[in-house]
Amino acid sequence: MVDAEIRELMQSFVLSDYQVQELYKRFNDEISKGLNRTTNALANTKCFPTYVQDLPTGDEIGKYLALDLGGTNFRVLLVTLKGHHEDTVESQIYAVPKELMIGPGVDLFDHIAECLAKFVEKHDMGSAYLPLGFTFSFPCVQMGLKEAILARWTKGFKCPGVVQEDVGRLLREAIHRRGDVDIAVVAILNDTTGTLMSCAHRNPKCRIGVIVGTGCNACYVERVDRVDLLKPEFKRDKKHVLVNTEWGAFGESGQLEFVRTEYDREVDRTSLNVSSQLFEKMVSGMYLGPIVGLVLLRALENNVIFKRDSKRMEFAAALRANPNSFHTKYISEIESDLFPEFTITRGILQDLFGTEKASIEDCLKLKYICECVAQRAATLIGIGISVLLNRIEEKDTVVGIDGSVYRFHPKFDAYMRKTIDKLAKDKIYDIMLSEDGSGRGAALVAAVASKQK
Ligand code: BGC
Ligand code: MG
Repeated sequence: MVDAEIRELMQSFVLSDYQVQELYKRFNDEISKGLNRTTNALANTKCFPTYVQDLPTGDEIGKYLALDLGGTNFRVLLVTLKGHHEDTVESQIYAVPKELMIGPGVDLFDHIAECLAKFVEKHDMGSAYLPLGFTFSFPCVQMGLKEAILARWTKGFKCPGVVQEDVGRLLREAIHRRGDVDIAVVAILNDTTGTLMSCAHRNPKCRIGVIVGTGCNACYVERVDRVDLLKPEFKRDKKHVLVNTEWGAFGESGQLEFVRTEYDREVDRTSLNVSSQLFEKMVSGMYLGPIVGLVLLRALENNVIFKRDSKRMEFAAALRANPNSFHTKYISEIESDLFPEFTITRGILQDLFGTEKASIEDCLKLKYICECVAQRAATLIGIGISVLLNRIEEKDTVVGIDGSVYRFHPKFDAYMRKTIDKLAKDKIYDIMLSEDGSGRGAALVAAVASKQK
């Protein structure tokens, strides 16, 4: 047990039952607003229809290229679908230098095309014509499967010249500028869509796809007649459509103010997209580490942690200069660490501020800070998942999920389930980790798209 001082400091991260219920209600209202044509303009969660209307059947086959842009890494993949459960994926990670993430859009797309060309050459695919699925993990208005207008950049990206443009066109133009590869961009999709598709491929009960990685978002299978947002020309002969909620934007009209802390406000204030993606900033990998960094700074300033450590003030100064030095992965590592050795925690503290031997008491305090921040995030995501589960007619559903925060945090899954068990009482659900949703998912959308015609 940690002492009262630390618990008091963390009190603002503990959500009460009342707050959880109220958040559920607000979240649900926001999704309804997003789906409705007359209120969509006022909604934060834009609930973009995706033009993906068929889940995979399992007999999809063929070779597809896939691009995955929007998380920590940019990847090019070659996916071979061979029918149920037998697909193979070869992939290569390419760095996206920071300058490209905030430089002119043309440069970013030229870089993507260059990586693609290198990949094709390396895999000796020469002049073979290959269809490509582009997993582009940002909010887009889909005008069709191949046309996606970027609504805004999020996370670490902010390239001028792309917002309000069709990213499919920008990619095709970059490919043409090179002129050395023959590739057709047949589908553009969100990573949540890819996650849902790749999980549905394994388990047909999957109806929801969630990402808790660098950013956070969810998509789900909605009834066409409830998406009054759809354009008249949209084909209504199918009963369902995948909706990309873009729930990371929740809270931009003030709905989260009653739970946001001073640390959340500070993280927002110093971000690339001030006042945007407020829900995302409380739950995702790009922000959780910095939140802990800021809390730790406050704990050091208030002399409630590392009280007897001679380097306390130096540590505070370093964190003040760069709260981002507290990486999100540390949270998972610290929470997985073993009491009373705390070998990993001590290693992190050594790296961060050169303290030789942190006390058990201090390690426990730091762990408690991490737990409170991570548990709040998991609870918030549990609320969002419950809202979607309760909108789906099926009683028995599977949630496909991916992303570094979910994958590596030892208790995230358990925290989420605790909330869902409370808020979606009548549902039987399971949570399934996606196997490379961005790659296999892109290939599946491309495959389903060619069937859909
Ligand atoms: C984007 C979403 C994406 C999510 C996870 C968010 O910042 O707006 O489109 O699905 O990150 O990558
Ligand atoms: Mg990703």
